[in-house]
Amino acid sequence: MKLTGHLLIGAQEVSATAGTMKALNPATNTEIEPSFALGGPAEVDRAAQLADDAFDSFNNSSLADRAAFLERIADGLEAITAELAQRISLESGLPVAQLEGETAKAATQFRQFAAVVRQGRFRQAAIDPAQPERQPRARMDHRLQKIALGPVAIFGASNFPISYSVAGGDTASALAAGCPVILKAHNAHPGGSELMGRVIQQAVKDAGLHEGVFSLVRGGGNEIGEALVEHPLIKGVTFTGSEVGGMALYRRAQLRPDPIPVFTEMTSVNPTFILPAALAARGAEIGDGFAERMLVTVGQACLKPAILLAVDGPGYLELKNAMIARVQAMQARTMLTPGINSAYRKNVERQINAGAQLIAAGGEAQLPWDGQSVLFEVDGAQMLADSTLGQEVFGPAALLVRISDKEQLITLAKQFQGQLSATMQIDQADHAFAARLLPILERRTGRIVINAFAHPQEVSYASIHGGPFPATSDSRFTSVGMTAIERFLRPVCYQGFPDDLLPEALKHNNPAGIWRLTEGELAKA
Ligand code: NAP
Repeated sequence: MKLTGHLLIGAQEVSATAGTMKALNPATNTEIEPSFALGGPAEVDRAAQLADDAFDSFNNSSLADRAAFLERIADGLEAITAELAQRISLESGLPVAQLEGETAKAATQFRQFAAVVRQGRFRQAAIDPAQPERQPRARMDHRLQKIALGPVAIFGASNFPISYSVAGGDTASALAAGCPVILKAHNAHPGGSELMGRVIQQAVKDAGLHEGVFSLVRGGGNEIGEALVEHPLIKGVTFTGSEVGGMALYRRAQLRPDPIPVFTEMTSVNPTFILPAALAARGAEIGDGFAERMLVTVGQACLKPAILLAVDGPGYLELKNAMIARVQAMQARTMLTPGINSAYRKNVERQINAGAQLIAAGGEAQLPWDGQSVLFEVDGAQMLADSTLGQEVFGPAALLVRISDKEQLITLAKQFQGQLSATMQIDQADHAFAARLLPILERRTGRIVINAFAHPQEVSYASIHGGPFPATSDSRFTSVGMTAIERFLRPVCYQGFPDDLLPEALKHNNPAGIWRLTEGELAKA
């Protein structure tokens, strides 16, 4: 597929109105051809008008048609796997094999959402038939279904440039819900974004849908993102990135005359608690596993286990030595962008200035945007005294916390802010203490893992990739997994409707054949 560098607005290829940019190869610090168009508020407005025009027909498309559309996107992604992985590898420094795996994951996600659409359960159809004889007041027929929110803006993430970007779970779940999508492409991988955008644009055309179902815009600063969240026709936003960026967009959306939901996924250190019996039995194994996970994708993962807490005692030294060995053996690797690399270096300095002891360092940086792996250690008292030690360092760094006793572990667990995940490493003898820790973690995290690590994340019905602030701006929802679709839906009740005016999901003979709640009982009737 030839890259042209255009913005993709509906079916149109749109040229630059606000200058151009080139992708940077972070491994060689050189620019890559071609030039990519930058747009501004006028392009946002054009895309939003088209999305609004597309809304009614897309929201009311049959479940079968919408599912087939999502499967077309999956097929299209698979067809460009090699090309996409090679281009994004140049733009991100990530290995081609990893990116091919991400493409497969992205295609699978679209197929999973196609299945969700066909099942129709996302409609959450509920029927409370009329009760004309009810005393003292008759009840009218009430029927409820969930419909799409409206056109939505999705900010592609930098760190998983396929499965959290243009063709990521946000796009898949929004389209599954019936929301037209305006994608704000991340400037870290403009070529990959265009390739994925063209796949979706082509699928819209092949499926015979309104062109406004999908647009891809790109800008040279905050202006385009701000225009998106402020546009009156945009009814929801999703974002994965920094807390500063996420909260700036969130606040802006709440200041609109008509505030809209903004689902941001921002920051998490994914604390790992090693309980004493597990530490004594397999300290080295846990330390090695933790360090291996923390170093994956140069530590640039929202689920990177970043903080490990263990009570000093049998197994502690083995744990620490295993972590040191892995970190020391790791070569410095290219980070995603100069900005992410400089933020990493600054945050490593912050840890040193806060008194964290550097206990291991990997190979030194050879190239400008290389990230050197580092491991710090503090004791529990230090950690309690300085909460900045518990903040995210996005990159290949982790912090080992030497805890004095179990009570200190409990106190520290209570100090954590909202997290995407937390892990407990336990053996049988730890169960009673784990039961004490559990409610503390439940209040602070979206997912609790036993005897594994949080990364990677499954995409399934029971997945949660969310959590209390600052992990996300809305702990009631997930951005990964099949229930991610719920962010893009809202309920509508139809009262006293004749059958011919009812939507497909609520008609009397259930032509869609979906599960519905009738008088509170689930049935396909
Ligand atoms: P970012 O700076 O938050 O940017 C993400 C996207 O939001 C970009 O498209 C950016 O546009 C846009 N944006 C950010 N702030 C904005 C604002 N005030 N107004 C309008 N648009 C705005 O994230 P990033 O570039 O991916 O990485 C920067 C840092 O974010 C990393 O160092 C890391 O700390 C954190 N991060 C965390 C995670 C995680 O999952 N925990 C993931 C990725 C990044 P422009 O680029 O055009 O400005």
